[in-house]
Amino acid sequence: MLEDKFGRRFHYLRLSITDVCNFRCSYCLPDGYQCDGDRDFLSKAEIRPLVQAFAGLGTSKIRLTGGEPSLRKDLPEIIALCAQTPGVDKVALTTNGFKLPQMIQSWADAGLNALNVSIDSLDPRQFKAITGHNKLDTILKGVDEALALGIKVKINSVLLRPYSESTLSLAMEWLKDKPVSLRLIELMQTGDNQAFFKANHLSGQPIKDSLLRQGWLQVLREKTAGPAQEFAHPDYAGRIGLIMPYSKDFCKSCNRLRVSAKGKLHLCLFADQGLDLRDLLRDGDVKAIQARLVELLGRKEASHWLDKGYTGATSQLAMLGG
Ligand code: SAM
Ligand code: SF4
Repeated sequence: MLEDKFGRRFHYLRLSITDVCNFRCSYCLPDGYQCDGDRDFLSKAEIRPLVQAFAGLGTSKIRLTGGEPSLRKDLPEIIALCAQTPGVDKVALTTNGFKLPQMIQSWADAGLNALNVSIDSLDPRQFKAITGHNKLDTILKGVDEALALGIKVKINSVLLRPYSESTLSLAMEWLKDKPVSLRLIELMQTGDNQAFFKANHLSGQPIKDSLLRQGWLQVLREKTAGPAQEFAHPDYAGRIGLIMPYSKDFCKSCNRLRVSAKGKLHLCLFADQGLDLRDLLRDGDVKAIQARLVELLGRKEASHWLDKGYTGATSQLAMLGG
């Protein structure tokens, strides 16, 4: 099992498979994806030994992310290769959802168990203002299809100052009979979004207080669960999760490691640098990859130091997948 010097165990890998994205979310890629000419993303032949190495060290859950992972034509094959790796019992995907209705069946057939769909607002005009795209109806249709296929669905929603009140009341209405978990994520500061962050960051704490006042109960989570706090209410089919990276002790329950689409290990979302694994991935020597992972994990720090305004090498989250 991968364990660091602070006693944290890492059974969860977030693997980015592309930096490219077709959306222009105001907090992430407001000017759209800027191609630097290098689109040499990990191939399936490199992903296979990487996933085997992690699985052999106790990783049981893999989340595929990006950029927008559904832009990769070989996504169903990547899902299948993760799902078929011994030791992996959960394959999840984070997507903006624009391809959901068209692709969800093939992802499910390939072995996808869980889906996070990013929907920052259920108001079509706000959704367009945030993402640059008029795709809310398509995405919601895809969410229903995923639920009908028995896939566990979470909705990622970044808390943004101008929209939060109306977003939340629309979302609460929707959750009454939609069995999804809505993850309200505090906006995080990155290298590129400093001014936007200052103008739009909202703390999740007042929302937590208000949920508790309205009869929502905090759900006890397993010891190995990540840093989200989850709430349930008897009148609602859906749940609400709060992700508050600026709260005290957020990093104490860190259970994940990240690998970028170009094969760099990131010990934290806001680490100083990615640590290269690509030479070993090309060779495909699983034991050598495992030895390097164990050695590099020794460098993992206790916290992301985001509260001190430190964003490491992360210019935006599309480069690593959130
Ligand atoms: N394109 C996919 C999507 O949007 O779901 C996957 C990649 S995206 C970087 C993963 C998640 O990170 C999304 O839910 C997005 O809303 C979130 N995200 C991006 N930038 C963020 C920021 N600065 N603060 C908080 N969440 C952010
Ligand atoms: Fe693309 Fe996801 Fe970033 Fe939006 S949050 S720009 S969909 S990578």
